[in-house]
This record gives sequence, C-alpha cells and structure tokens, in this order.
Amino acid sequence: MRGPILLLLVLMTLLPLRALAALPAGAAIWTGSEDCSAVDAIRSAAPSGWQPLTEATPLGSGHAWVRLPLPPAWPPQMLVLPTLAATELTVYLPGVADPVHRNVRMPEPPHTGTAYWHSVLMQAPQPGEVLLCLQGRRLQPAALALVGAERHIERELDVRALLTGSVAVILAMSAFALAFWVTLRDSIYLRYLGHLLAFLLFAGLNEWALARFFVDLPAAPLPMLYVRAFSMALSAALTLSFTRQFLQLGRHAPRVDRTLGLIVWALLGCGVLELLGVVGAGSAPVWILQAENLLVGVAAVLLMATTVRLARQGQRYARYFCVAWLPFLVVVLASAVSSMLGADAAQLLRLWQLPVVAFEAFLLSVGLADRTLALKRERDAAVHQAEHDSLTGVLNRRGFECRLAQRLADRTGGALLICDLDHFKRINDRWGHPVGDRCLQAFAERAARLLPGTAELGRLGGEEFVILLRETGTAALGLAEQLRREIAEVPVVVGDEVIALSVSIGLVGIEPGADPSIAGLLKQADAALYWAKAEGRNRVLVAEPDAPA
Ligand code: GH3
Ligand code: MG
Ligand code: MG
Repeated sequence: MRGPILLLLVLMTLLPLRALAALPAGAAIWTGSEDCSAVDAIRSAAPSGWQPLTEATPLGSGHAWVRLPLPPAWPPQMLVLPTLAATELTVYLPGVADPVHRNVRMPEPPHTGTAYWHSVLMQAPQPGEVLLCLQGRRLQPAALALVGAERHIERELDVRALLTGSVAVILAMSAFALAFWVTLRDSIYLRYLGHLLAFLLFAGLNEWALARFFVDLPAAPLPMLYVRAFSMALSAALTLSFTRQFLQLGRHAPRVDRTLGLIVWALLGCGVLELLGVVGAGSAPVWILQAENLLVGVAAVLLMATTVRLARQGQRYARYFCVAWLPFLVVVLASAVSSMLGADAAQLLRLWQLPVVAFEAFLLSVGLADRTLALKRERDAAVHQAEHDSLTGVLNRRGFECRLAQRLADRTGGALLICDLDHFKRINDRWGHPVGDRCLQAFAERAARLLPGTAELGRLGGEEFVILLRETGTAALGLAEQLRREIAEVPVVVGDEVIALSVSIGLVGIEPGADPSIAGLLKQADAALYWAKAEGRNRVLVAEPDAPA
C-alpha cells in the first residue's frame, strides 16, 4: 500500500525541481512606480533606480519592471514565468517596435507554455536589453527564468503528454462509471461520475490546463468564466458527496459525515458567491477564494484522518481510498496551503492535480468494481439462503419447486420421488432431537452421494425429502431402490449410538413432452408414498399411471 504512494510522491517532487530554473544572471528590478506603458521613461531613467533581482526580492502588487540582458541569438532562449507570478506580461525587445503583450493566465495564440507557466521566445534583431513589465495582484518576478528553448519545448510537450494521458484515463473511468450506473442503477456510480466530470471541468477551466489543447479557443469566453467560477466548489462538493457514500461515513463516522455535509453546503454557497462576484464585478473577492481553499483544506485533513482510522480498523473501502486518494489529498492540501501563503510552489503542485486524479480514478474504479462484486456475493448468498434448508443444506420446498418448474418447462421427462423416513418419531423419542437431526443430515448426504449429478434433492419439511430425476422408467426405479437399500442396510452412527433407519418412497414418472402441474405430481407421489407406508414401509411404490396429474 505504501509502495505506490511513495513512488508517486517521489515523482511529484522531481517535476517541480526540473521546472524551477535559476533566475537569469544580471536581472534587475525597477523600484519606481512607472506603469507598463512608460517604457521611454524607464529607458532613460537613472541607473540607480535599478536593484539586482534576487530570490528574496519582496512581492509587490500592481506592476513591476524587470531588466534582462538579451541572451545570444543561438541557442534560442525562452523566458518562463509561472502563471501565478503575474496576470499580464509586456516584453520590450531591443529593435522591435511593438512590445509583445501576453495575458499570462489565459491561453491565447501563440500557445506556448502550459497552464502552469507562460513562455515567450526571446528573439530580437539586435543586441541590447529586454525590458519586462509584469502586472498582477500578487507579483512574483523572482520566479522568472531563462531556459534553452529546445529543452523547454520538450518539457512543455512532456507536461501536455502527462495531462493528455491523465485526461484519457479520467474519461475512460467516467465511461466505466456511466456504464455501471446504466446497468446497475447504483447511485454511487452517478456520484462518482459527477466527481470525475466536475473535476475535469475544474482542472480544465480553472487552470486552463486543457484549454491549450484547443488552439482556436477564444481567450476566456464569458460563459466559460462563469462555469469556471462555480467549478471548484462544485467539484469539491461532488467529490465529498461521493466519498461520504463510498466510505459509508454516515455509519462509521457520523460526526465527520455531518461536518462534511455542512462543508459541502458551505462550498456550494461559496461557489454561488464567486459566481455572483464574477457576474457583477468581473472577478470574485479574494476572501471567497480563500474561504474555499480553507474549506477544502479542512475537508482534506478530516478525510485523511478518518480514512486512516477506518483503514486501520480494517474497513476495506477505506483502504482503497487511502491508496487512491492520499496523493490527491496531499496535493490539494499542499496547494491550498501554499496558495494561501502565496508560495510559488502552488502552481507546480497543481500540475499534479490531473495525474493524481487519474491515478485515483483508476484505483477507485477497481474499488467500485470490488464493491459491486461484494454486493453480488451478498445477494448470491441471500438467494442461496432463501432456497436452501439450513439443517441439511439441500434445497427447501421453495428452491425445489423452482427447479421442478424449470425442468417441467423443458419437457424432457423424468421422475419425482417423495421419501419419508419410517417411524422417525420413535428415533426422536429414543435418542433425542439432535440425533434425529443427525439422521436427517445423514439421509441428505447419502442421497446426494448416490444420486447422479443431474438430480435435484430437496427437503419438503420434517423427515420428508423430495427428489427429481432425469431418469425415467426402470432407471428411475433402480435409483430409488438403490437409495432405499443403502438407508436400510447402513445404519447411522452418532457417537456410540448405532441407529437403524429405513425410508419409504413414492415415485411418479414424468413422460417426456407431458406438462403436468407441480401440485398434481406431488399429490401422485404422495399417494404412492402413502401406499408404501400402508404396505409395511421400507419400500418403493410407483404411482398408478392413470391417476390424475
Ligand atoms: P411414519 O413412518 O408414518 O412416517 O412415522 P413417523 O414417525 O416418521 O411420522 P410422523 O409424521 O408421526 O413423525 C415425524 C416426526 O418427525 C415428528 C417430528 O418430531 C419429527 N421431526 C420433524 N421435523 C424434525 C426436525 O427438523 N428434526 C428432528 N429431529 N425431528 C423432526
Ligand atoms: Mg412424515
Ligand atoms: Mg415418517
């Protein structure tokens, strides 16, 4: 169980390490307050206004100017900026009249970069300095990097492959959930499907992770912005509602279940407020986003603690959940905490949201299949119980009549035997009920051993058994006689007691092609049994062929 989690955590630490490139050498930051259009004022400003840009340069908001020496034309370099570092970027290249203007958060052509970082090719007709202006609510110019273009594009392709693969897995598992819901009508599959699709919507729109796959997608069309505003709350709420059902929290951890129920409603409330904020003012207040992050964080901690507790108590689904969701919860928790703290690791962690959900989707699909299998086993056991006699293990009246009806519908013919142990009351009276029970079991065991595999054996009640044979005529009579002899000749031994038994059998033949009623057949066999008793017991008698069926 720990193996896959450790592997995933190791992988998760590797990619952010690769992505965090060093600050470009010689970068400097402007400490004045000129906005992004004041490029001439910046160019002619005094050198003393520039300070070296370091990792420790404090965060600001509004806008910030950064100066970089233009890298040599060969090999080509790319400027890489995490998408959380700024919302807009303006690049003034030496000898280029128009600045390159980029919306960092939204995908727009050219589609370089990923949802997690933005990249601009640094090419200019002449040497000089590049001036960058960053705009945004929480600027992080220290996260800037210059990276060899070839290597960087390769890395972007890796990220896209990782995301495409993850999306493919999530879609495949969604199709699986849909198919199961359609066939089984178990609402857990619908909740699971909702969780997966809402997450895809959230990851696809909120991070624009998937938008970059569609080159012609217009930048942030309005309806998408609205859906995006609601998608995080919706995705978290559906995830929690699925989890509560999957882990049966209402039964195993009712207090946690109630708290999570409240969080679901609070999240949906936040989603509505966020939506109203976007519709009204273009963007939602930061406190709503922070409240959402806080709620998700609290739910994640609660779920982790509860699941580990249930898994340690041996709950099977909690174990699936632990393996499947721990990486996901770690990522959600870490990105919620780091985005609240404003750390730039947040978006690199978010890169892992889709892959860990794909991992989770795959494992939980196995878990759900396992749950379905367990339900099927329970149902099969219930059906078995309903059709079998608990003392002897053979069919009960209901189970036997069911098989008899099937056999009669086939019209293949056969024979029906009713067997009644002789003077059974005396056995009970002499040796007691438990020994009587052992005798009933011994009869059932012997009959099952003697009769062919195609025969059905049932207990009608008391010391009365019923047998359905495929054999007809003398073959059926031979089998009945063999059973009678075995019972009469081999006594039952219970402890030190040796109990002699005998059985009387009434037999009725079923002609191939005939369509007799069950009640009629039982009545005929019973009449033959009655005569066997009257003739002195321990014998097989065949029902009169002309008796009414
Ligand atoms: P006959 O040869 O005419 O069939 O006589 P009998 O004594 O076998 O028939 P009777 O119907 O008088 O008695 C059947 C007895 O079977 C009475 C009852 O106590 C006993 N019996 C019924 N069900 C069970 C059971 O589940 N366990 C045991 N040990 N005895 C049972
Ligand atoms: Mg009886
Ligand atoms: Mg009897």
